Amino acid sequence: MSGRLAGKRALVTAAAQGMGRAAALAFAREGAQVIATDVNAAVLAGLDGRPGIRTAPLDVLDDAAVAAFVEKTGAVDILFNCAGWVHQGTLLECSIDDWDRSFDLNVRSMFVVTKSMLPKMTATGGGVILNMASVLGAHKAAPNRLAYTASKAAVAGFTRALAIDHVKQGIRVNCVCPGTVDTPSLGERINAFADPAQARKDFVARQPMGRLATAEELAESFVYLVSDESSFMTGQAVFVDGGMSL
Ligand code: NAD
Repeated sequence: MSGRLAGKRALVTAAAQGMGRAAALAFAREGAQVIATDVNAAVLAGLDGRPGIRTAPLDVLDDAAVAAFVEKTGAVDILFNCAGWVHQGTLLECSIDDWDRSFDLNVRSMFVVTKSMLPKMTATGGGVILNMASVLGAHKAAPNRLAYTASKAAVAGFTRALAIDHVKQGIRVNCVCPGTVDTPSLGERINAFADPAQARKDFVARQPMGRLATAEELAESFVYLVSDESSFMTGQAVFVDGGMSL
């Protein structure tokens, strides 16, 4: 198989839909053997039979399941920690449970998955880790996203710290910071507004390019960040945001 990721094994979390799914398809197109995982086995099954992709249910909030899964899977060359969730609300609208879930899914899960996988990667000579952050938190804030913004800022810090600790072991770690991407969960959040058409316009208005991103165009940046084309980059927060951070 030819391609920019030929001969590489890749593990993607939250691959059933949105950017995780687009990443799995793009990595496979570039020649990687992809293990696509998600807590939602039914939606994940939509990737079954795609060339280069093997699907496996995995809840990244289940520490024991993650440890057992990584033990069985063994080392990968590419780990994409994509799982995450948006809580909408200010501090006053954010319960302790909302805060905990934001940090558990958006940050702690990365720590748990990476803690299991990293020793296997270093034992086989290294690899690349890509973490899902956001333009929110890594660069700026938006109204009503307190827990989400705080948790994604933590992803950027986690990424830098991991990168400096393991740079000499052949590990590169970067995080990607998308602007607003038209994915199923964004659609659900838009439809939850009293006026979904106006809500969509408001999301578009945040984007200087005057449109939302597609998951597929984000996936092209992921391919770059996990391929040897970005071989001198580590510890970076990479903004692919249609100018939202400007
Ligand atoms: P999405 O939100 O539509 O899908 C998320 C996927 O995560 C689903 O398939 C879901 O089943 C899976 N998931 C949820 N909990 C899980 C768990 N415990 N274990 C494993 N999988 C789990 O997709 P998206 O919008 O592309 O979001 C993916 C990531 O991108 C998230 O981290 C999100 O915060 C981040 N992000 C999204 C946007 C955006 O505008 N859509 C912008 C910046 C960052």
